[in-house]
Amino acid sequence: MADWAVQVAGLVGDQAGEWDRAGRIPREVLDELGRSGLLCAQVPAGHGGAGLVSLENGSLTAHVGSLCSSLRSVMTSQGMAAWAIQRLGTDRQCSDWLPLLVDGTLAAVGFSEPQAGSDLSAINTSVRTDGDDVVLDGHKVWVTAAAYADLIVIFGRYGSGGAAVVVPTDAPGLRIERVEDPLGCRAAGHAGVRLDGVRVPKANVLGAAGSSLPLLVTSALAYGRMSVAWGCVGILSACLMAAAQHAASREQFGKPLGQHQLVAGHLADLYVAERTARLVCEHASRAWDAGSPDVVSATVLAKQVGATQAVAGAARAVQVLASAGARDGHVVARAYRDAKLMELIEGSTELCRLLLAQHALDTTRGLRENW
Ligand code: FAD
Repeated sequence: MADWAVQVAGLVGDQAGEWDRAGRIPREVLDELGRSGLLCAQVPAGHGGAGLVSLENGSLTAHVGSLCSSLRSVMTSQGMAAWAIQRLGTDRQCSDWLPLLVDGTLAAVGFSEPQAGSDLSAINTSVRTDGDDVVLDGHKVWVTAAAYADLIVIFGRYGSGGAAVVVPTDAPGLRIERVEDPLGCRAAGHAGVRLDGVRVPKANVLGAAGSSLPLLVTSALAYGRMSVAWGCVGILSACLMAAAQHAASREQFGKPLGQHQLVAGHLADLYVAERTARLVCEHASRAWDAGSPDVVSATVLAKQVGATQAVAGAARAVQVLASAGARDGHVVARAYRDAKLMELIEGSTELCRLLLAQHALDTTRGLRENW
């Protein structure tokens, strides 16, 4: 096992169920991840990060996801905030903020609003210049890790364009309102963020204010989509392990469950799901690392396969364990709830299908003309 895998396994131990029930990951755990450089390990070494390439970062993400989807979600938000700064920020902004995020200053990303869910063109949060400051007014919802965050990258409207602004959570006028009792990833710190005349220096606007809002949003979402896809691989590997362990050790009708063909069928399908999700994620990460133009469609494919297979796979795992897994806090029960959320975020299953359908039409156009 890689050093980081041992480190993360040591930090999480058997506490994921307890964190889920308590709805909170202890801050010391997040601080320790920062100290060990694992909180956003893709940040380049030049900015103090571990500089993992996407394929390596994906393996780390899947490993964390197999242990605790809430922690993986917090790390996805941290990584997404770092990626937004890296992609959209100036050299100065990267030097100012990326080392902080690597070391454990916690960050989240706020796109969604009550009227802007799947349709982010409806974002209504306003960002306006006032002297040397910008002032933000708006309401973000369901921001993962906002309950822990020291900084939130807020996406808003600036004139006829958009702006991504790094906002400290202790800024006057900013209020965090925790989402009570989420379906899954209960310790991921989901919260709404109210912004009432929040004033920060202009220097906190990433790059130039007034850039295209869809472009700003898309570049930050790319990291989140890849990370969630890898997190789903983790959910599947945890489910496969739990189901295989149970099917090999529990006997009914005089033989191990796994020797009953219908149960063996569940195991085979879980294995196929885990392998398929991992392979499409590896494909997407290789495209990312190579800077290939295919990365966009490969990432949507990875997210779609990962999320849908995680939902189906977690349901199979619960079926194999039956009453043994049918209680709050059990790894497969947690996976069952956590997996469903993965179909809603970073492009829901429906939106990913629409994107993949468009990709199918685009990539077959030339071939269809001569068909
Ligand atoms: P809606 O947009 O209202 O959609 C409802 C349903 O209609 C969905 O099934 C959707 O797929 C479908 N639908 C919508 N439009 C179409 C269409 N054109 N064609 C077909 N079907 C369509 N937001 C953040 O900004 N930051 C975060 O960190 C963050 N984390 C989240 C974590 C969790 C666990 C959850 C649940 C949400 C999170 N969100 C976050 C919000 C998330 O991005 C939105 O929930 C998501 O974009 C869907 O929006 P919505 O919930 O408003 O659903």
